[in-house]
Amino acid sequence: MNATKKGEASFSPEALKEKYLLEREKRLRPDGNAQYRDLSGVYADFDKDPYVEPGFTRPAVTETIDVLIVGGGFGGLLAAARLRQAGVESLRLVEKGGDFGGTWYWNRYPGAACDVESYIYLPLLEETGYMPKEKYAKAPEIFAHCQRIGRQFDLYKAALFQTQVEQMDWDEDARRWSVTTNRGDRLAARFVIIAGGILHKAKLPGIPGIETFKGHSFHTSRWDYAYTGGGPMGGMTRLADKRVGIIGTGATAVQAIPHLGASAKQLYVFQRTPSGVGVRNNQPTDEAWVKTLKPGWQQERILNFTSIVTGNQQDVDMVRDGWTYIFDDTELRRAETPEAAAELRQMVDFRKMEEIRARVDAVVKDPVTAEALKPYYNQMCKRPCFHDEYLDTFNRSNVQLVDTEGKGVERITPTGVVVKGREYEVDCLVYASGFELSGEYTRRLGFDIRGRGGKSLRDSWAEGAATLHGMHSRGYPNLLMFSLTQSGHAINFVHILNEQSQHAAYIIGRCLKQGIGTIEATEQAQQQWWEVILGHFSKMAAVGGVECTPGYFNNEGVLPPPSAMRNAPFGGGTLEFIEVLRNWRKGDDLAGLEVTLGGTP
Ligand code: NDP
Repeated sequence: MNATKKGEASFSPEALKEKYLLEREKRLRPDGNAQYRDLSGVYADFDKDPYVEPGFTRPAVTETIDVLIVGGGFGGLLAAARLRQAGVESLRLVEKGGDFGGTWYWNRYPGAACDVESYIYLPLLEETGYMPKEKYAKAPEIFAHCQRIGRQFDLYKAALFQTQVEQMDWDEDARRWSVTTNRGDRLAARFVIIAGGILHKAKLPGIPGIETFKGHSFHTSRWDYAYTGGGPMGGMTRLADKRVGIIGTGATAVQAIPHLGASAKQLYVFQRTPSGVGVRNNQPTDEAWVKTLKPGWQQERILNFTSIVTGNQQDVDMVRDGWTYIFDDTELRRAETPEAAAELRQMVDFRKMEEIRARVDAVVKDPVTAEALKPYYNQMCKRPCFHDEYLDTFNRSNVQLVDTEGKGVERITPTGVVVKGREYEVDCLVYASGFELSGEYTRRLGFDIRGRGGKSLRDSWAEGAATLHGMHSRGYPNLLMFSLTQSGHAINFVHILNEQSQHAAYIIGRCLKQGIGTIEATEQAQQQWWEVILGHFSKMAAVGGVECTPGYFNNEGVLPPPSAMRNAPFGGGTLEFIEVLRNWRKGDDLAGLEVTLGGTP
């Protein structure tokens, strides 16, 4: 059968299905997530912060505070801002980086920009009175906005930068968390919010020989401009006489490669799986439009976007971009049964991916390179990318795509990169190999939390997480976690962070005002929440697609252990999750939390 739509090339769904499976097979490997290495041990040098002066010291801090926030990225900033709005003054933020920003502190690679519209992605725009300069803001502007939030909510005085939490222990007598850091701080906090981010742990591919490379190498989240020259807007003049290799072609690489191509003498792009790259069409912010905005506009726009990308039809598509195009389900509405809808959905996906592949043919001149750049999987198997210069970069004479045909780089030698037995000599090697997202929350956290009776969260969650709303866990009083584990998720993740921060601020504000000493999830509430998670799990599995090409969306294509079900996000939809939190707050009775009265010493 051939599917045709007026004005479009025909395609055979059967042939595409077969091709998708074939491409997936090529990429499956038994080691799944174990193929990656974190930036420790022999790789610890990759983790050094290139954006701060070396040798920073400060006196250790010993203090007693109401709230400690771990993480100074969007999540931590939002939590702190909402707490300030709730009248909480005594708070501390501990942040590994040298400033606020989190992802936007670390990711300064050339070309870095948000890929969700800046008007809905940058938090607290109305509260700070700021309007981004472009529809998709570039990294320096986003980082500066994080600093703006820090200043506006008076958070700099509360921040301990270049500091990492090492250990958290619940002190039963004091009814506080006793927290130590790598700078010798001892913080006694009544509440702790962990807003450690979802993509904060960079990872390297476990390619043999990485540590033997004698040239210069770094991960994209630790870009070494001292070596490359230039800055986040490009212009890396020191690469003019360098042979550069980049490993990875995900969302980060897609943004960095055009700049590397423009600056390097020679660029080799080592690809395992091509990304789907749609149109970006970035635009300067329309001043006339800004003048029309009424108070509350940002939340309205955020809600409009999330509604559309979660299948909740809207009269108007305010954002109108590549994301809302992917999720536009107008065509699906004519299906009369769920089966017909599923079939139609697949046909629409085939067609939209055909458009992505046709774009490659239209832009990339060399047909072999063009073929290798075409993604063969369903649209949401991997994070969709949007860029208007990426594909064209492969038309440059100094840029070569080295397609590993799904197998990945074979070996790193002291002088270069080996693929299919051939060595490509490079002076500089950039790892655009991403961040840990699959795997357990407690592993990604990077420090241990010991709750009541000294029990480690790692041990408590050895068979999977147990929480209420993904935020509270029994045995760990006064601890509030922002994560994906049993919690909401969204294309525009800031939408969830904003709701989680309001939720946390409500709970903590209320406890402080009403003299509540401790709150802790009840066993029964956790069990009920688990049943909710379980109920949605099959839906999540379908979205995460075991039939998808491997990646961090589907645990690298390896069927996860049963405990992973417990670590899954809430699969009922972004808006439904938000509704759960809002309804819970409306009840105003801290339902499912065991409460003990009495302040702490
Ligand atoms: P990804 O995990 O998406 O990409 C990692 C890349 O490294 C993939 O192309 C992967 O190939 C490749 N790779 C891994 N191991 C090997 C190997 N052995 N040989 C060759 N290639 C290898 O990381 P990114 O940093 O690109 O993106 C992470 C996430 O960060 C995004 O999904 C997005 O959510 C976010 N992001 C957001 C941006 C924004 O808002 N503008 C911009 C950039 C990132 P394979 O696909 O085969 O696994």
